[in-house]
Amino acid sequence: MAKVKYYYDSDTLSYRKIKLRKRDKLKRSVIFFLASVLSGALIVFVMYHFVESPKQKILKRELANMNLHYDLLNKKMEQAQEVLSGIQSRDNDIYRTYFEANPIPDELRKAGFGGINRYKSLEGFDNSEMIIAASKQLDILSKQLYIQSKSLDDIIELAVDKEKLLSAIPAIQPVSKADLTRMASGYGWRLDPFTKARKMHKGMDFTSPKGTPIYATGNGKVIRADNSASGFGRHIRIDHGFGYITLYAHLSKYNVRKGKKVKRGDLIGYVGSTGRSQAPHLHYEVHYNGRAVNPINFYYGDLSPEEFQEMLKTASQEGQSYD
Ligand SMILES: [Zn+2]
Repeated sequence: MAKVKYYYDSDTLSYRKIKLRKRDKLKRSVIFFLASVLSGALIVFVMYHFVESPKQKILKRELANMNLHYDLLNKKMEQAQEVLSGIQSRDNDIYRTYFEANPIPDELRKAGFGGINRYKSLEGFDNSEMIIAASKQLDILSKQLYIQSKSLDDIIELAVDKEKLLSAIPAIQPVSKADLTRMASGYGWRLDPFTKARKMHKGMDFTSPKGTPIYATGNGKVIRADNSASGFGRHIRIDHGFGYITLYAHLSKYNVRKGKKVKRGDLIGYVGSTGRSQAPHLHYEVHYNGRAVNPINFYYGDLSPEEFQEMLKTASQEGQSYD
């Protein structure tokens, strides 16, 4: 390493070796060593901070790639969520309504997961937030799908029963249109024909001559045919199943007895004016799950849209009922 250096001696006119003293030699070595270490450190520092290694470059690219994929994944999940929301509202508004099942409340459909922190193992990383958010969204999506698929299972079961339901549910007028004098009073607050006080009229009154045939409005079983209910006179109740009961009051004569199974359109009795009645008429009620509901919604079997409009107009007029 140490080169031999010469100098020109003008006295002897010859080149002579430069002799370094030991101390100088040591000093030079130390300086050289320090300079090497320093420049080495500088190179490492620069490389480390400003120049990426091929491995770093690969990792960085992978990370960017992963971020992009998470973004895409989130977008896809959002789309799936939108599609699912559409199915959910169709399920609630159409399928479940059509089959008379209660809609699934939003709180239940969109319920999250309580209790333990399911995402603890994902915490503490640079990208934890992103990964946890995506995992959460996926979990919620899965749960909603599960609830939705259970709901569709219900619907399938209901669809199997649908035919039975369709033939059981009250769907025609209890008095033939040809025999009907008029639909005289609807469901709602009406004047009581006897006391003249306002009273809830829980059915519809069809005025017809005494002896006009009355028909069962849906398949079912006669659960009452007697005159021991106050005010109704001779009356019939039919249990149609699925929560539906119909009531026919003020009859002059029965054509069925308690316990008889009837089909829609079967003749069950005749119009009269027994019980609390002002004139010959049929008082008709529809009960669903123990509550009287407006019968006007249960004639879709035999009313045209125009006839329905006409009936709706008459039925909504507040006047006196025939009771
Ligand atoms: Zn009435």
